[in-house]
Amino acid sequence: MRKSPMSTYTNFTVETDADGIALVTWDMPGKSTNVFTEAVMDELNAIVDAVVADGAVKGAVITSGKSSFSGGADLSMIKSMFSLYQQEKAANPDGAAQKLFDLVGRMTGLFRKIETSGKPWVSAINGTCMGGAFEMSLACHGRIASNAKSVKIALPEVKVGIFPGAGGTQRVSRLADAQSALQMMTTGQSLTAARARAMNLVHQVVEPDQLIPAAKQMIKDGLKPVAPWDEKGFKAPGGGIWTPAAAQLWPAAPAILRRETSGNYPAALAILKCVYEGLQVPFDTGLKIEQRYFTEILQTNEAFSMIRSLFISMQELAKGARRPTGVAKTELKKVGVVGAGFMGASIAYVTAAAGIPVTLIDRDIEAATKGKSVGEGLVKDSIGKGRLTQDEGAALLSRITPSADYADLKDADLVIEAVFEDREVKKAVIEAVEAVLPDGAIFASNTSTLPITGLAKNSKRPADFIGVHFFSPVEKMMLTEVILGKETGDKALAVALDYVAAIKKTPVVVNDTRGFFVNRCVFRYIHEAYDMLIEGVPPVMIENAAKMAGMPVGPLSLNDEVAIDLSQKILKATVADLGEAAVDAKHMALINKMVDEFDRRGRKNGKGFYDYPAKPAKKSLWPELKTFYPQKKAEEVDVEVLKQRFLVTIALEAARTIEEGIVTDPREADVGSILGFGFAPYTGGVLSYIDGMGVKAFVALCDRLSAAYGAHFKPTALLKDMAAQGETFYGRFDPYAKEKEAA
Ligand code: NAD
Repeated sequence: MRKSPMSTYTNFTVETDADGIALVTWDMPGKSTNVFTEAVMDELNAIVDAVVADGAVKGAVITSGKSSFSGGADLSMIKSMFSLYQQEKAANPDGAAQKLFDLVGRMTGLFRKIETSGKPWVSAINGTCMGGAFEMSLACHGRIASNAKSVKIALPEVKVGIFPGAGGTQRVSRLADAQSALQMMTTGQSLTAARARAMNLVHQVVEPDQLIPAAKQMIKDGLKPVAPWDEKGFKAPGGGIWTPAAAQLWPAAPAILRRETSGNYPAALAILKCVYEGLQVPFDTGLKIEQRYFTEILQTNEAFSMIRSLFISMQELAKGARRPTGVAKTELKKVGVVGAGFMGASIAYVTAAAGIPVTLIDRDIEAATKGKSVGEGLVKDSIGKGRLTQDEGAALLSRITPSADYADLKDADLVIEAVFEDREVKKAVIEAVEAVLPDGAIFASNTSTLPITGLAKNSKRPADFIGVHFFSPVEKMMLTEVILGKETGDKALAVALDYVAAIKKTPVVVNDTRGFFVNRCVFRYIHEAYDMLIEGVPPVMIENAAKMAGMPVGPLSLNDEVAIDLSQKILKATVADLGEAAVDAKHMALINKMVDEFDRRGRKNGKGFYDYPAKPAKKSLWPELKTFYPQKKAEEVDVEVLKQRFLVTIALEAARTIEEGIVTDPREADVGSILGFGFAPYTGGVLSYIDGMGVKAFVALCDRLSAAYGAHFKPTALLKDMAAQGETFYGRFDPYAKEKEAA
């Protein structure tokens, strides 16, 4: 083995063996995963040149020095390309577009250079291989993947509003059949190594320790340094688009996409266009087509906002953007969970899954043990799906200790209470826990409706008291809302954020208010549906319009999940606390009728706005609902307006939370809205939705809606002021203001 002269790179090492095969190992210093940056592209370009120039080198194997192969392109790089374009657009629109087009083509050109270098390249995929990294692999002449469980292969760009724009659409559609190719790219789904092999996207799947030898063997066996599409007479699998099979696929494809996305994701449609148009032309022309569509997509609000919220902001929040800097990181040695019911049981499970020992307390040991059994069920499922081994499952469960004795919390760093939503019950639990809790340990409440400041009045140490609000199902929902009471201190916030990071969820930190952030917005969504029902909009149109607006679940369906009697309870509590005028009497009448007259409580009792017949039959809207109010004819209802009403009422509520100082960072409102209740992800979240159309246009829309549908659509003072000043949320509440000042 010799280190060739070309081995002095920052992000790669290159070692050439006695057979003349260069092993190029991508291993970026100080990073947990490899990503494509400008510097990485420069170095890879130099390596390709060196491999070509060195007569002693027969071919190259590229792999990763990390446990994953690579996460793909650095999205901050893509975001900065977009920002550059925006800056230059005003002065020189054509020049700016050309510049963006050239930048976009850089990666495409580099990968094509590997493909046409004249020497064979093999990509040895040792772990997760995403986006641009898989596009690079597709440009190699051989692809070989390890069969390790950790290997996931995907082109997930569509999930952040872009698409595989470095040759991915052209190569995948020339290797796999068109239907699988479209499915993979328009959903961004992950493939196992075996599935990638079955789709013809990798050539071999081998044991992890055989990866490099097998990759080198491909070259020794005479791997031809020519891509199939560069061979004369190449035909795409299935014969391209002028075949009977293609005649079945292509007319249906845009319709299927529209059914799945309601036309809200321009990048997904661009994938279809790239493949359809690209398969009719020579490969290099196909690459140009892809480059043009990619340039176009990069200029959309959807791409900009999705990259910002779903990638950059989400990462920043997960890394503790809101964490107080003066407090040392807490390694949680033990967490207590009090209340082993629906929420507590799952909170204990996710905590144990993060490797933290948990004491799970309920009123008696039977109830606590029952709570642990929920974890047992989840572990069994994970073992069944191959996500955990038997040993890992057993170790996870061994970390959950059921108990009925508060004394077992004496060495906990953090206790989370998830007992009944009742002030008196919570008061008793707070007192019982604090009687044993060591100094400096933090008490967190998972309450969904009771303000934290009020609950903290029962605490002897309100500075160590905080809200940590989970969403159901806890093991699936990625968001956690962290709520600061008036007296909550920095240490409590730091510990809560360290805990949320340990269980790998994304936190949003909000100030105390009724409903916090997420539920305030969610109830606006549901209440707008009540208004529509009362106006006589057919229930099915309400549900469909919400989905067409980009919401994952219709509001009536969501209310069934949340429980209609819980809505009733919340409405009643609001009346008790704030008076009759605080709720809409018509809403109250509707919900009382559902619950008191018809016992329709939601999915939990099998009847809500929907009927829930025994499986496999599907749920369907309850026909009687249509008899509640005189029904409008479908043609009397403007679906576009229904869509706007849903998005605007939620966004307006989010704007109110900013105005009231509940949410202080626009990133949190955006990320919280997408992770918490699936707010139309293509918008980038509630505030990006407003910024995207411009505050002035949003205010005008609010004015129109309030004239027609009620005062709850009235734009607020803050919005009117921002409209007058031409401001955006990300400008006025700039999350990076402090860093900019410091710089
Ligand atoms: P649940 O009724 O399923 O569970 C409550 C558990 O607390 C029960 O096991 C009960 O035995 C136990 N408990 C009651 N009094 C106790 C005491 N004095 N000491 C010890 N244990 C006691 O309720 P849940 O749905 O899990 O809700 C728990 C909390 O989580 C509530 O504050 C609720 O508002 C909040 N929350 C619920 C959801 C949800 O979707 N259900 C979502 C977020 C937050």
